[in-house]
Amino acid sequence: MTFDEFGLKEQILKAITELGFESPMPIQERTIPYIINCGKDLVALAQTGTGKTAAFGLPTLQQLNENENRIQMLVLAPTRELCIQISNDLKNFSKYFKKLRVVPVYGGEDIVRQLKQLDVAPQILVATPGRLIDLCKRKKVNISNIQFLVLDEADEMLNMGFQEDIQTIIEQTPQDRRTFLFSATMPKEIANIVSKYMNDYEEISVGKKNAGAENVQHVYYMVQAKNRYLALKRIVDLNPDIYGIVFCRTRQETKEVAEHLMKDGYNADALHGDLSQPQRDSVMQKFRIKNLQLLVATDVAARGLDVNDLTHVINYNLPDDVEVYTHRSGRTGRANKSGVSVSIIHTKERHKIRAIEKIINKNFEQAQIPNGLEVCKKQLMYFISKMENVTVNDEEIDPFMPEIFARLNSMSREELIKRFASIEFNRFLEYYKDAIDLNIEVKEERQKDGEKGKRSGRKGHGERTRFKINKGARDGFTPRRLLGLINDTTDDKSISVGDIEITQNFSFFDIFNDQVDKIINAFSQQRRVMLQPVSDDNPRKNSQRRFNDNEHRDAHRDHKKKRHTEDRYDKKGKSGNKFKEERRRQRAERKKGKK
Ligand code: AMP
Repeated sequence: MTFDEFGLKEQILKAITELGFESPMPIQERTIPYIINCGKDLVALAQTGTGKTAAFGLPTLQQLNENENRIQMLVLAPTRELCIQISNDLKNFSKYFKKLRVVPVYGGEDIVRQLKQLDVAPQILVATPGRLIDLCKRKKVNISNIQFLVLDEADEMLNMGFQEDIQTIIEQTPQDRRTFLFSATMPKEIANIVSKYMNDYEEISVGKKNAGAENVQHVYYMVQAKNRYLALKRIVDLNPDIYGIVFCRTRQETKEVAEHLMKDGYNADALHGDLSQPQRDSVMQKFRIKNLQLLVATDVAARGLDVNDLTHVINYNLPDDVEVYTHRSGRTGRANKSGVSVSIIHTKERHKIRAIEKIINKNFEQAQIPNGLEVCKKQLMYFISKMENVTVNDEEIDPFMPEIFARLNSMSREELIKRFASIEFNRFLEYYKDAIDLNIEVKEERQKDGEKGKRSGRKGHGERTRFKINKGARDGFTPRRLLGLINDTTDDKSISVGDIEITQNFSFFDIFNDQVDKIINAFSQQRRVMLQPVSDDNPRKNSQRRFNDNEHRDAHRDHKKKRHTEDRYDKKGKSGNKFKEERRRQRAERKKGKK
């Protein structure tokens, strides 16, 4: 499909051809004929970056009258930056309409200056809600005759607390206007606005409702909270071409992370609410033109920053609100490019990942923080490919070559390459030579195993819990027997058991956390074998049946007496009750003794 087929005016076609638009984007294929040919309203579920400005801009321009000096179209947007951007896009699209004027008005800017701009009597006004209300109160703008009302990034406007303002504004516009609402998500507050203020409308969805962009890969890394920054650095180092936003939760965190990155030599800067408007503009501009590789930002500060080719969005901290995650991750993977949304989490945040997976209807991949060697290799190969692709300016460099050859003459080819590669490699090697493993699982495992071993069992199920039972070698327990006990007790052969250790009196083993409940439930039916988690930071620990050393010794003695007649772990009933009674009796005695 081409733009010609929509019957757009010559002036519009000429302008968009100059902008390099060759064919319509999916949302435009649907909205352009709809807005031109049908008199109804529109609700469009679309993320920024899908081409939505042209989606409403081109078909409305087709219908505006440049000879009439009144506001015919009002576009409401959440932020100053978005207002400016929409207004610039509309100016570009309407470049060949000699008398058409577009004016942006937004908060945070001197109102007197903006009043002056309104002198030109624009046909299109692009505004943030607060500033528009102010101007309406001063009777400086008249929106009572508009033909089109566009609510852009409606969900963001509501997130920013503009709900009442939007309603006040809508009520000042004429009933017969056409309303086009664009939103990345559809929370119920938006549905309320739609049902209250919109006439007969059609809903267009580009991508799924409330879904993350299709070409975004969601990845999480699990580290101890104190290692978050080190993990960030490794992730960045593993992606030398990264161009991304690092989202933090607070201004303070944003400042700290950005300062650390800058100090450590990264091409990064911070964007947060404590910056003045000129400072914000300057940082955003540097980022837009890719003078900055990493922008560390709060959600609020990054609103309105519209960049289409981010390779990564990094959640330095996950947001509390899942919808905020959708917004963050939707900033990458735009305009048919792929992108990665990375989250750095600690163990207690895995439930958040699960909650997000449900909403975005996509699974996260748990990735391992790369070790020092992997990072060094990646950086080295990046350097080599840069060398392969560098433009050699023969004319300029040729005059220097004889001298360079003379200097390097004595070196072999191998030595030359090694030295050349070391220029870049040494820097990373130096930093990473003693790098620790940041992955939580691996670290815990090594501590337990005294650095020696790999465990068996499934991969990729994340954290494990270590258990201990009151049966050991003295009871004839072997790893095989332990596995038999677990299989029999749970009646589930899919339970994956790792890191078995049998001591004289106890047996220890690991279970993946998603199977912990099954184990606990199954063993709670067991009278002769007592199960206890051994990890100190395990929140389940306190809620388990526990046994102390005395109890264990008593139980063990009792058990030894009877082992020639009883099955070691399957026997229930009388003897089990006796065992329990004995323990109760001993406990009562101890209590008495204390009194
Ligand atoms: P938007 O979602 O409106 O912010 O647009 C995202 C980017 O896509 C902007 O840089 C637009 O200039 C660009 N764009 C919009 N429509 C097209 C098109 N049909 N072909 C190429 N680029 C486009």
